[in-house]
Amino acid sequence: MENLYLISFGEIALKGENRPYFERFLMQRIKEALIPYDKNVQLKKTHGRMYCYTDAPQENVLNALKKVFGIVYISPAKSCENDLEQIKKTALELMKSQDYSGKTFKVETRRPNKSFPLKSPEVSREVGAHILRNLQGLKVDVHEPDILLEVEIRERAFVYCEKVPGLGGLPVGCNGKAMLLLSGGIDSPVAGYMLMKRGVEIEAVYFHSFPFTSDRAKEKVIELCKVLANYSGKMRLHVVNFTEALKEIGENTPDEFLTLMMRRMMVRIAEKIANNIGAKALITGESLGQVASQTLEALVATNEVATMPIFRPLIGFDKVEIMELANKIGTYEISIEPYADCCTLFVPKHPKTRPNLSSVQNAERGLDIEELTEMSLKDIKIIDVKPAI
Ligand code: ATP
Ligand code: MG
Repeated sequence: MENLYLISFGEIALKGENRPYFERFLMQRIKEALIPYDKNVQLKKTHGRMYCYTDAPQENVLNALKKVFGIVYISPAKSCENDLEQIKKTALELMKSQDYSGKTFKVETRRPNKSFPLKSPEVSREVGAHILRNLQGLKVDVHEPDILLEVEIRERAFVYCEKVPGLGGLPVGCNGKAMLLLSGGIDSPVAGYMLMKRGVEIEAVYFHSFPFTSDRAKEKVIELCKVLANYSGKMRLHVVNFTEALKEIGENTPDEFLTLMMRRMMVRIAEKIANNIGAKALITGESLGQVASQTLEALVATNEVATMPIFRPLIGFDKVEIMELANKIGTYEISIEPYADCCTLFVPKHPKTRPNLSSVQNAERGLDIEELTEMSLKDIKIIDVKPAI
């Protein structure tokens, strides 16, 4: 009898000729996620799913696999030889490990391996009877059982009764790379998560303005990266020294355009870094109308300086919805820590909410954009962040 996990994946199964490409990324991610618990994980792919053999404690395995994009279900399973007595014994063992008292159950069998002498309903009957004989407090219910025990007869027999939901999506890396503009706020980590879920590998850039923003604000961003790294295995953070640029903007542009000027500078710099690392898009946590700098006009004015697409996966989300997601992925508690970042400190008293492009371009006249960009690009620290666990 062996312990293993059956891993089912959703969309990947529909990828036709490209399926091996996606499966490669998924296998890689599964191995990375389990390495802290077992260096010798065995993975096999067959029948449109993966079989993961590991001796690591079940709780660790499930927690790790629940953070791997591309997995739809994880079923802790046992396997044995194709022999009825073995199957009965294995099914009973599995049932014993469940919280079965007072519950109803049903056995369902599939038999792709037609050389097995008994038909599926006969196997189900035999296995069900064996369990009933040996365990007290269980009843059969063939319509709505609490526990559905599944038996699959292939080259070996597999028995399982739990389907632990995974995150779905696509394995990180299979859809290229993008650059996340990560502040310490609630929104941007969630935005990064959304793109990772669609298979995009992410590097993050944080614009740090010491001493206007404390080093605690930077630490907070690193903490957020750790949480994101739980889902991708790793996260590279580029910390740009933005102090000088921020001063120049503060001194040489009209107050009501301040946030917009900052955002346009950030996009220009982020895009240059993105080009250097082979990232093909930018990601921000903007949501339409959430604040003055996120009106449609302001977003248009920000976009003007970008040549890459800027993905804004939260564009149609309400704040409450974003907060719920942040909670779910584990970034909320970190994001609400009080250390302010520059965009909160440098909020103009009367921001221009509906800037037109020519007034924005006018407002920028006092800046030497190229020099500010070059200067900021020369002062970048790279931090490779490992997962939080
Ligand atoms: P967040 O919760 O992500 O901070 P927010 O609602 O506070 O977002 P803004 O502060 O207006 O919004 O920033 C909009 C977006 O610009 C952020 O979601 C983020 O992608 C980017 N951004 C803002 N400040 C920074 C920064 N210091 N470094 C990197 N990106 C930033
Ligand atoms: Mg912010």
